[in-house]
Amino acid sequence: MAAVPARRNQAVRPWTSVRAVDLPMFMLGSLSGLAAMNRRTLLLGFGLLGATALSGGGTVYALNTLGMVPKPPTPGEAATATSQPTPESKTVPAETHTSEPHWTYEGPTGPEKWAEVDPANAVCKLGGAQSPVDLTNPLRVAALAGLQVDYVSTKVRVTNNGHTFQVNADKGSSVKIEGKRFDLLQFHFHTPSEHTLDGKPFPLEMHLVHQAADKTLAVVGVLLNEGTTNTVLGRFWERLPKAPGEVDTGVSIEMKDLLPRGTDDYFTYSGSLTTPPCTESVRWVVLKQPLQMSKSQIATFRAVFPNNARPTMPLGARYLLSS
Ligand SMILES: [Zn+2]
Repeated sequence: MAAVPARRNQAVRPWTSVRAVDLPMFMLGSLSGLAAMNRRTLLLGFGLLGATALSGGGTVYALNTLGMVPKPPTPGEAATATSQPTPESKTVPAETHTSEPHWTYEGPTGPEKWAEVDPANAVCKLGGAQSPVDLTNPLRVAALAGLQVDYVSTKVRVTNNGHTFQVNADKGSSVKIEGKRFDLLQFHFHTPSEHTLDGKPFPLEMHLVHQAADKTLAVVGVLLNEGTTNTVLGRFWERLPKAPGEVDTGVSIEMKDLLPRGTDDYFTYSGSLTTPPCTESVRWVVLKQPLQMSKSQIATFRAVFPNNARPTMPLGARYLLSS
């Protein structure tokens, strides 16, 4: 997929860094307090506090701010972890993959070396807001609204791009996150899951990549467990192209059927693409409700891609929020 233009001079820049001086002092005090509190605590009053403290921005702004306000570095975290490159200085590609891989998931061009493979991937190593992360000890925020899903049907043309199977979705599907609309571009898969739950990976993870009109990206992650056969994926799973290239499966699916029931419960944080160039300022929403797929469906995927998951990255200065 072609790179899209850099974002410049935006009046509203959700999910980008907010300087500490932008915040009222009492807000900072509250946030310092939050960091010290048990992060599982239900912060009933926080949404109201945020809505009233930051005039014009409302709860959404406050939550975005919360996700980006630096915590004091914990011992062992590199000093560079909080110096984030400005996203405006480069183009923002969708999470997509070239058909000629110069990076891999193992060996001398594996995840530890992505920044060395290409200077354009420097943020993979230096970024302080990288994905995936371990989903653990989230900060519960009662004010987080449910995901509003408006998905339509799409033809399933599957690309094996050397890193994963990807389906570029037909136009018309979108989600609303905290009132902001993101259009669905494509979905693809990783095994094992990239996000882990309390340190444990799932067999697979699906990423539904979306982009807003202002070019900001949002990825909805769905974890997949071993269980019963996934009948929606099953409609095209046996036709996945084993060699790089595209296959028109001749199948159409209702995209909404691809999601689990219950999209109100999720983890969310500000992260990055999980593949080079690891671009940051990506809004992540990982649904708590997993999907199921059969052992043989998992095996079908792993026969082509035995391991295409980036290891989890430090949460660092970010907060993981939970609805
Ligand atoms: Zn992905």
